[in-house]
Amino acid sequence: MTDIIRAGTPGTPGTPGTESLVCRLVDAELLVPTGVLGLYGRSGTYQDVADGIGAMVRRWGASLGARRLHLPPVLGRATFAHTNYLESFPDLMGSVHVFSGGNPEHKELLRRVESGGDWPALLEPADVVLASAACHGVYPLCTGVLPIEGRTFDVQSYCFRHEPSPQAARMQSFVMHEIAHVGTADGAWNHREEGLAHGLRMLSGLGLDMSAVPASDPFFGRVGAVLAAGQLDEELKMEGVTAIPGTQGMTAIMSANSHRDHFGVPFGIETAGGAVAHSACVAFGVDRIVVALLAVHGLDPASWPSGVRDQLGLAGSLA
Ligand code: ATP
Ligand code: ZN
Repeated sequence: MTDIIRAGTPGTPGTPGTESLVCRLVDAELLVPTGVLGLYGRSGTYQDVADGIGAMVRRWGASLGARRLHLPPVLGRATFAHTNYLESFPDLMGSVHVFSGGNPEHKELLRRVESGGDWPALLEPADVVLASAACHGVYPLCTGVLPIEGRTFDVQSYCFRHEPSPQAARMQSFVMHEIAHVGTADGAWNHREEGLAHGLRMLSGLGLDMSAVPASDPFFGRVGAVLAAGQLDEELKMEGVTAIPGTQGMTAIMSANSHRDHFGVPFGIETAGGAVAHSACVAFGVDRIVVALLAVHGLDPASWPSGVRDQLGLAGSLA
């Protein structure tokens, strides 16, 4: 089953020290391969570390009075259309298709499955798509006039991005845990700034060597190049990056994003003062953080530094 991963992975399988990180994670049974690049199951040990990160983010959210939400991995198509994700990242989104035919269509469906034919062509788009970011589900909850202090959410979900890759930190399906704020322009900007600082402190405290860099999203197409330049110029997106041993370059394991009124306008959100609401989110890529911790501290969390284990609540849980 690891062939699909090994096939597209730099490094020489079987030679100690040269195997890719993803192969080592699979061999250590931390990630469970599925035959699809970037799609893995989690072992119990991996899940325990992910839970520890979730608890750390939740503690921060609780200190801000955030409303806790666990959202599904799919989003209503109408809500998705309002996020304008398609404008910027059509290549990353994923849609859900369903069968709604009758008996003749069912017969044809089975015939195509058996003959290796194009059976997905017989399906139709459902009224849901795969979630691209955890925070997208909170904006429709804010439509109308906000309380004076705005609204803060602790929100997490599995997200999908169509970027199949043999790199351990680039998955198609991964958990994003965000603290998002919707409120005044100043309130949202402060959330972005304080959230970035908090996230960097939190992740540094886990032994990861963090730095903050202004970043731009991988916007699609020619218009996208202009959007990316503007995002960089105004430093709307900041990323917390770290070097993950066994992978090249720096990897963003969190981001702190100012959306300005990008969601306030389409979702009809107003501040108590009557202005269009601004929003900001601080997003933790839970899987990337787990992978970074495993690469930095070793593949056996039972042997991690006790300070790291304590913060993740792992003491005793991995016996
Ligand atoms: P939006 O601006 O639309 O709200 P976002 O800013 O919340 O989106 P990103 O910054 O694109 O989302 O992603 C947040 C975090 O999710 C990243 O910092 C990263 O850690 C993680 N992430 C993104 N893509 C992947 C991926 N393909 N595999 C694993 N983790 C990912
Ligand atoms: Zn977000």
